[in-house]
Amino acid sequence: MDGKALAAQVRAEVAREVAELGRPIGLATVLVGEDQASALYVRRKQEACAEVGIEAIHHELAAETSEAELLGLVAELNADERVTGILVQLPLPEQVDESRVIRALDPVKDVDGFHPASAGHLLQGEPTFVAATPAGIMEILRAYEIPLEGSRAVVVGRSNIVGKPMGLLLLAENATVTTCHSRTRDLAAVVREADVVVAAVGRAAMITKEMVKEGAAVVDVGINRVDGKVVGDVADDVREVAGHLTPVPGGVGPMTIASLLRNTVRAARYQAGLLAFPGG
Ligand code: NDP
Repeated sequence: MDGKALAAQVRAEVAREVAELGRPIGLATVLVGEDQASALYVRRKQEACAEVGIEAIHHELAAETSEAELLGLVAELNADERVTGILVQLPLPEQVDESRVIRALDPVKDVDGFHPASAGHLLQGEPTFVAATPAGIMEILRAYEIPLEGSRAVVVGRSNIVGKPMGLLLLAENATVTTCHSRTRDLAAVVREADVVVAAVGRAAMITKEMVKEGAAVVDVGINRVDGKVVGDVADDVREVAGHLTPVPGGVGPMTIASLLRNTVRAARYQAGLLAFPGG
């Protein structure tokens, strides 16, 4: 399943939507510290913004930035009309409480979908901003017409940003969902039952050929650096049994960025009164 090609289509669609909306849209990106992977992800997001006509408003803060300073910046961005969406790149340095920073975001600008309000909207079946990685994965599964209704879906990983929202989205499409994690007993037996597997752990080659049912659709979220190469969580030989598989790189990553752009346009619609924000 070619996430790179699909993401290019989505970006073209988003560019048309941005033009149709006819109002300036700005995405504020906040990078704290010098983590190289984080800097690269933020740069890719900025480039994608530029491509679709969204203004990227970048803030780079020193690694020693205090929580109070960061909360001050978030408050400014919440109040700034030029800023349609706010993305605080995680992870944050240890002196900063990530969840406090996320809770400080105006929920109507929470384009990453990490605020408890966004998570709650998804949980209750009234999604607003869905975390970009699982949202992008759903779009891949839709584009490749992977049957979800009544299927057995296994999500490996239960983080707030990938595993949990992924499970909720698959459930909303009437899959029978199992979420696995580090305490799951006999992971191989559970994964083998799945028609759809989403691997979001961060351990190279942990999903092996023997764990995958013939013909299953396998989504590889993992990003692992091994001998200077980026690989996923799914072993190479899984392609011999899987019916569909996302590559790493070129699968989930580009669709994550494309979904962030979609969320930013959604934020613009809420703020323009073209869409009603729940409770707001
Ligand atoms: P987290 O580290 O937050 O979560 C990892 C999950 O994997 C946890 O729930 C953990 O279980 C589970 N786990 C760990 N070891 C095992 C094991 N042996 N068997 C089963 N489950 C296990 O990671 P994220 O969800 O943030 O990210 C997961 C991966 O996806 C990473 O490689 C990350 O880089 C990548 N990623 C890729 C993105 C993209 O755009 N392509 C975007 C976001 C993430 P427990 O809860 O019990 O600890």
